[in-house]
Amino acid sequence: MEYSSIRRQVLDAIREAVELGLIHGTSGNIAVRDPGSGTIAITPSGIAYKTMTEEDIAIVSPDGAWLAGNYKPSSETPMHTAVLRARPDVNATVHTHGMFCTILAMADEPLRPITPPQAEFTPVQIVPFTMPGSNDLADAVVRALGSAGKSVLLKNHGMFTCGKTIKAAMAAAIYTEEMAQTTYYAKLLGILQPMSGEAEAAMQALIAADQAV
Ligand SMILES: [Zn+2]
Repeated sequence: MEYSSIRRQVLDAIREAVELGLIHGTSGNIAVRDPGSGTIAITPSGIAYKTMTEEDIAIVSPDGAWLAGNYKPSSETPMHTAVLRARPDVNATVHTHGMFCTILAMADEPLRPITPPQAEFTPVQIVPFTMPGSNDLADAVVRALGSAGKSVLLKNHGMFTCGKTIKAAMAAAIYTEEMAQTTYYAKLLGILQPMSGEAEAAMQALIAADQAV
């Protein structure tokens, strides 16, 4: 089937996100770009993820125009396609309404790493609230991610991550939710002590060197 590879990647990732509890019902969405053609596969709007098939995954152009699929693309398509257009280094994007990310998005301060693996995805900026599905939200997410960001929180909404591959974008989503969860409990106990900026930078240098190999 046409677009089979990118559709398969979206379907596998959405099932993993549901299994991990990152996505409930029809909330959240995932996009994967074919680096060769620039075509994007994205979850459809309002369809239950548990019974979804490859043919249900929507195919859109780099500008978000609906090209194929049984159902229309996610209402959050502008956010995914804007990030994919702005970031040639990125081929996959994940948006969830994960509970702890949604809570910490109200904290008005960027998430800080508590454990070394989390440092790969920091700093995690907070995007002020704008209407879901709007170009304003898409622009704000692009701005907050900048040229190298991997993860942001969306105030009164959830979170958004990106990566070179769907595996990388999913890792960003998983570790950002973990970061928010550990931060939440540490704040509750009054013992929050994130890694120092120095340790965070050292960890990031280590990860970058490893990825460069
Ligand atoms: Zn959303």
